[in-house]
Amino acid sequence: MREESKGRYEMLWDCPGCGTEKLLGVTHRHCPNCGAPQDPSKRYYPPESEKVAVENHPYQGVDKTCAACDTANAAKAGFCVNCGSPLDDAKAVRTRSEQVGKEAIQAGEKVADAKKDAEAARKAEQERQLAAHGAASGATPAEGGGKGKIALIVVAVVMLALCGLCGLFFFWQKESGFEVTGHRWERSIAIESLAPVQEKAWRSDMPADATDVSCQPEQKETTKVADGEDCVDKRVDKGDGSFEEKKVCTTRYREDPVYADKCSYTVTKWSTSDTLKATGNSLSPAPSWPTVSLSNPGTCLGCQREGAKKESYTLLLKDASGAAKDCELPMDRWSTMAPGSHWTGAVGVVSGAVDCGSLRPAP
Ligand SMILES: [Zn+2]
Ligand SMILES: [Zn+2]
Repeated sequence: MREESKGRYEMLWDCPGCGTEKLLGVTHRHCPNCGAPQDPSKRYYPPESEKVAVENHPYQGVDKTCAACDTANAAKAGFCVNCGSPLDDAKAVRTRSEQVGKEAIQAGEKVADAKKDAEAARKAEQERQLAAHGAASGATPAEGGGKGKIALIVVAVVMLALCGLCGLFFFWQKESGFEVTGHRWERSIAIESLAPVQEKAWRSDMPADATDVSCQPEQKETTKVADGEDCVDKRVDKGDGSFEEKKVCTTRYREDPVYADKCSYTVTKWSTSDTLKATGNSLSPAPSWPTVSLSNPGTCLGCQREGAKKESYTLLLKDASGAAKDCELPMDRWSTMAPGSHWTGAVGVVSGAVDCGSLRPAP
């Protein structure tokens, strides 16, 4: 954000005594017509065309109000110009809210606007004090607050119910008896071969040994670029009968595409060309790995090698009602659970899934 001062100008005021309008806030501390003192709470901003610059009057601070006679005095004054009372404990006068935007500034305002502004501020202050008082004395909150609370409770109850349902699904279990009806196993070995492979990647991610490279620019990301400024004019009441006009600017940004080379290329690498499998449906013969016989072992182009190995062991069960269930288990546990043996374990009431880790010999 950038701020630029455009000068200091006089606020205006209307004399309540004789009705003279558009008196100057700094120059006319009293009405030049009837002598009535200026009321700082009724100062207002002039329209753009009627601005009067403040000259030869350096800013000294917000005016203060004499506690004895309510007369506004300059910030530096030690004694009231009206009644002579000391101003040691005098309060600063209330300043007007900021005026923002071209239209508001050009149109200016009237003393009525200043009155409305003061009234709104007084109400807000009253409400703030009332709220502070209510909280201190433990009074019940207003109707609106009560409704908000009810809504909050409803949301909480719904959330709890949802959590409960989730919990039911995952954690509500019952004990059941199981009989082992069979075994199943599968072991596999991947066969990899070294061969040219087509790939696509950003140039920066391309392997160094890539060949047959062909690249084209593509949008990779976007970047934020400064693209001018959005400015508003703003008037700030200085509290001494003058206001400062400022230009407040914020930088505007736009998203620009960033291009990079996307490349198609050929690279020689190991990749899975085949998978050998061995399977069985009983404990014997014991599980074994498939026989690997590489037709062309080595590291030449077109050569083969053994890749990743995988294994899985499934125990087939039926529960007390005869329904089929199964469990995937580590091989050493799987192989000790004989066909026809009986086991006790937990099963999900909603999901129907067996908690395989909970299986133990039936009593
Ligand atoms: Zn007057
Ligand atoms: Zn006074």
